[in-house]
Amino acid sequence: MGEICPTCGLPLDMCICKEISKQQQKIVVRLETRKFNRDTTIIEGIDEKDFDLQKLAKQLKTLCACGGTAKDKYIMLQGDQRQKVTTYLESLGFPKSNINTI
Ligand SMILES: [Zn+2]
Repeated sequence: MGEICPTCGLPLDMCICKEISKQQQKIVVRLETRKFNRDTTIIEGIDEKDFDLQKLAKQLKTLCACGGTAKDKYIMLQGDQRQKVTTYLESLGFPKSNINTI
């Protein structure tokens, strides 16, 4: 017997918690113009318990070829990356209807 997920009771390799969590998370991708008029794309609402934000930030920085950081449940990217980020999140399995791009 393999390990059992304490949340859904299924063996870990069949665990559906992350998928359910992806379905339930309401993500906001928004643009913030900060001081010095620098555009910053903010991604918020991704549960860091289920998702490695540091890793995701790294992937997004590579994808967008820009600087960025993950902290306090937010990912921040330099510039207006909303379109790329939204497309990428969809490809990870987050439902389009749950991604609110402002
Ligand atoms: Zn589970």
